[in-house]
Amino acid sequence: MHVVVIGAGIIGLSTAWNLRARGADVTLIDPAPAAGASHAAAGMLAPAAEVVWGQSPLYPLMRASSELYPDFAAEVASASGRDLGYSTAETLVCAGDRADLATLRELIELQSANGFEVSLMTGSAARDLEPSLAPGVCGAVRIPGDHSIDPRRLTSALVSVLGDVHVRSAASALVREDGRTVGVALEDGSSVRAEHVVVAAGAACNAIGGVPDLPLREVWGEVIRLRAPAHLAPLLTRTVRGLVAGRPVYVVARPDGELVLGATSREDGRSGTSAGGVHQLLRDAERLVPSILECEITDITTRARPGSPDDVPIIGRVDDGCVVSTGFFRHGILLAPFGGRLTADLVTGADTSWAPPGTLDVVSPARFAPHTDSHPQPASHHQPAGSHP
Ligand SMILES: Cc1cc2nc3c(=O)[nH]c(=O)nc-3n(C[C@H](O)[C@H](O)[C@H](O)COP(=O)(O)OP(=O)(O)OC[C@H]3O[C@@H](n4cnc5c(N)ncnc54)[C@H](O)[C@@H]3O)c2cc1C
Repeated sequence: MHVVVIGAGIIGLSTAWNLRARGADVTLIDPAPAAGASHAAAGMLAPAAEVVWGQSPLYPLMRASSELYPDFAAEVASASGRDLGYSTAETLVCAGDRADLATLRELIELQSANGFEVSLMTGSAARDLEPSLAPGVCGAVRIPGDHSIDPRRLTSALVSVLGDVHVRSAASALVREDGRTVGVALEDGSSVRAEHVVVAAGAACNAIGGVPDLPLREVWGEVIRLRAPAHLAPLLTRTVRGLVAGRPVYVVARPDGELVLGATSREDGRSGTSAGGVHQLLRDAERLVPSILECEITDITTRARPGSPDDVPIIGRVDDGCVVSTGFFRHGILLAPFGGRLTADLVTGADTSWAPPGTLDVVSPARFAPHTDSHPQPASHHQPAGSHP
């Protein structure tokens, strides 16, 4: 079976990886592989800390994907011979003040009720674990099951292991015959025929002609990469997330010493880096880890998360020859093993009973059917201001 995958972000790559494992002949089409949202992502694998009110269909998907992660990471690391920066160190979610602590207490109840292991600790107990935490941290939630990976290493490993299957051009349109997708037209004027096409172009899916209108929204985010000076390293040994005056912020500590501070969240359509956003991240991180200001900034990246109206991915067949896989919003790195496997299942017609009950309906593009006319509905909710994966 020859499958063309449009988009070599983490979702297209994970899908191609799964398809190749089943013997499919895969062609990946992307003018700039792994340079979209996946290039910005902090790489938190946080099914528990990402449990927030009003997103219950998402929790089982996040849990299922986190359970697939150890094998997925081990197989990609082994096939590529690369270190993926995969860390099973726990996560601490810290409270900047008493009101933030009250919010975290309420969240713990929701996280526990959904079966995640979380426990509250005092600020001084958190400082015993991470001495760089500020004296003002007045409590923390300990989450042993929330881990991390380096998305740049992961996508680079997948690109290398998939080998010579990349076409460096943009897809301009689906080629359709008798109501079925049979290939892809490229911006360079050529075209590629295929038995199946997967559209995994993240936030840009709607720019490809012939793809049914999907209610995608671009949720822009800034993220800062830093390194601690030698006398402070390692500044942190686990991911420190927190609430500061109600705003979420995080610092991911990678095994190689990189620190990733993120992330803003805005839907203003501006693709440039916001000075106010960078200021907000540094100011809030300083409240939790004051010596972050002594670090060297090595990179600031701004990208758009591909959001859906309900923050749940959009995965499903749109005609006999085409499956879409997008809308992974702020969980695409965590959801990559799940999304790649399910998308490959839909292409090959494989059994999907491994997925949580009801998954196909939960992620189906058809759930937006009343709204997917030429005027997609705006997001059904608003992100709280502040920082998010
Ligand atoms: C600041 C920030 C922090 C984040 N942190 C986390 C985190 O900690 N944990 C987590 O799980 N998730 C995180 N995310 C979310 C995660 O990055 C996304 O959900 C994920 O990267 C989406 O992957 P994707 O492959 O769908 O899209 P992308 O990575 O955007 O890839 C889409 C690809 O499609 C290509 N493309 C576009 N148009 C075309 C075309 N016409 N033809 C061919 N190719 C095309 C692009 O070049 C790109 O390579 C974060 C996102 C941001 C922005």
